[in-house]
Amino acid sequence: METVLQIHSIEKSYGPVKALKGVSFKVPKGSVFGVLGPNGSGKTTMLGILLDVLKADAGTYHWENYQDAAAARKQIGSLLETPNFYHYMSAYDNLEITATIKERGLDDIDNVLKKVNLFERRHTKFSTFSLGMKQRLAIAGALLGNPDILVLDEPTNGLDPVGIAEIRELIIQLSKEGITIIMASHLLDEVEKVCTDVAILKQGNLLSAGPVIEVLNDDDWIEVGCSDNEALAALLRRHIGLKNIIVQAFVQVSFGSEMDTETLNKYCFENGFILHHIQKRKRSLESKFMEMTK
Ligand code: ATP
Repeated sequence: METVLQIHSIEKSYGPVKALKGVSFKVPKGSVFGVLGPNGSGKTTMLGILLDVLKADAGTYHWENYQDAAAARKQIGSLLETPNFYHYMSAYDNLEITATIKERGLDDIDNVLKKVNLFERRHTKFSTFSLGMKQRLAIAGALLGNPDILVLDEPTNGLDPVGIAEIRELIIQLSKEGITIIMASHLLDEVEKVCTDVAILKQGNLLSAGPVIEVLNDDDWIEVGCSDNEALAALLRRHIGLKNIIVQAFVQVSFGSEMDTETLNKYCFENGFILHHIQKRKRSLESKFMEMTK
């Protein structure tokens, strides 16, 4: 696997707050890499360090194709904060200012406007844009200079459903064009829909990292119910093969090895429980994520 970035044991504190507690992971070339975690888990801090905006207290990181952090910061496209576009100016004129500030050529502007699908609207005032269009323009700004890596902090935050869909589509399209994208998100659903790889952070710790299909894989669960679910749960907790159990409206159980509904039904019956409900389920990734980050 070719990587674009390697991170080793990064630590960062703000006074007494430990924002990152020794985080390591690798970002594969060509991936859409999600840094996933609830609010305050350290995502923005991590992206700030990678972009050389913040200094880590300990640990190292290395962008494969750049000599040092300063060179990487110049070449990588990034969107950590919402840029200040002028409301009364057009999309094109705003990007002209961005290009000048970033010391990037003006020749790129038409091209990036086409990439984010705003070329037809290039002479329209920024103030008339929808939230999704405004965010697409911000991404266009990050694309100036034709970077092969893009770092985005919560790119769909604050957008309406249409805007969210537009940005997700754009990220997938940019990835198809060969750009490696590293993005923070607190939404599992987003990472599932958009990302190929993920690192899950919780309170500054790395919980897991790797391809989305491996990290967030589905387990087979069986949902059972009877007149006394608590007593049933107590029985199932004693089952030698039990891997996981959640008691909600029904009792949800997963087992280390294959378990079919017939065998489980028989086991419950032989132990004095008559089930009124038994069903095999793929537990949603959402609940797995909740369990990992609770
Ligand atoms: P969010 O999505 O809410 O931005 P995050 O996962 O990006 O969360 P960070 O913003 O990196 O997390 O914050 C990690 C921890 O560090 C939090 O506890 C936060 O309160 C703290 N923190 C972040 N920036 C500062 C700062 N400048 N001063 C003090 N504490 C900070």
